[in-house]
Amino acid sequence: MTISRRTFLKDAGLIAASFGLSPLLKPSLASALEELATGRAPILWLQGQSCSGCSVSLLNSESPGPAELLTRYLSLYFHQTLSAATGPSARKAVEKAIGDKNTILVVEGAVPLGMQDACVIGGEPFAELVRRAATSARAVISVGTCSSFGGIPAAPPNPTGATSVAEALKQVGITTPLINLPGCPPHPAWMVGTLIHLLKVGVPELDEHRRPVRTYGQLLHDLCPYYADYQAKRFATAIGEKGCLFKQGCQGVVTRADCSRRGWNGGVSWCLQARSVCIGCARPGFAADPEFPFFRFNENASQESGKEVTS
Ligand code: SF4
Ligand code: SF4
Repeated sequence: MTISRRTFLKDAGLIAASFGLSPLLKPSLASALEELATGRAPILWLQGQSCSGCSVSLLNSESPGPAELLTRYLSLYFHQTLSAATGPSARKAVEKAIGDKNTILVVEGAVPLGMQDACVIGGEPFAELVRRAATSARAVISVGTCSSFGGIPAAPPNPTGATSVAEALKQVGITTPLINLPGCPPHPAWMVGTLIHLLKVGVPELDEHRRPVRTYGQLLHDLCPYYADYQAKRFATAIGEKGCLFKQGCQGVVTRADCSRRGWNGGVSWCLQARSVCIGCARPGFAADPEFPFFRFNENASQESGKEVTS
């Protein structure tokens, strides 16, 4: 499919607007999109211990939308959920991607290091496949909290020994650049924006958990519309009450993500705007820490804001 320069510029403008970037960056973003569209940025998307929610979230992309993303930009060698290929042809596509040094490896889901047969693709344990693909890849992006930190598969008692991609690679000394995009699921703009940044500018500035600072640099709580209620100790203690949701277990105080300024579903709403607590889906200890159930009657909670709980 031939895509005009005008289309690249239009989509680049949408991306710049969605990331709050200067319009001056439009030409550079347009060239990143062109690189994606012409297959110079081939992607291999592997799924391990996952629910496919991250892939579904990707399809909720707004700018560009899912049809444009898949037909114009993503040069997918293989994607376990979206590709039509199965059996030997799927295996062939995976091997082709692994043989291409330009491939960006995207991993969704945790790696069952303690029970390798728990996830096998084409007869090969997922752990081995991920390591083989990561060795030759240009970069690795771990999408979702399972892939970034272990997530729900790693929740106690973790019978499969589920672990993050970073840990699986570290154990065998693989040093390919790796970016974590936690979230259960991650916002589509976090995934698309990181891919574009990786292509055009390189690996973005990362924090100690290898997360892009631009997206995960601030506590959600600090920009929450209920922050004034928190300061004034106006807490909702039952569903439907007005006020800050801290006493119902809101984990915005220990979760770094930009949901409070970005919104979800095209900015229509997000967890707290819908009066749900933030369950901390993007934080490292998500689902692993019994001290942080998703909801609770939290009258005695004393968690200080500003500290990120990691386990
Ligand atoms: S505790 Fe939750 S609801 Fe309250 S201000 Fe912080 S993020 Fe918002
Ligand atoms: S508000 Fe909290 S639970 Fe909701 S998507 Fe953002 S990080 Fe996840």
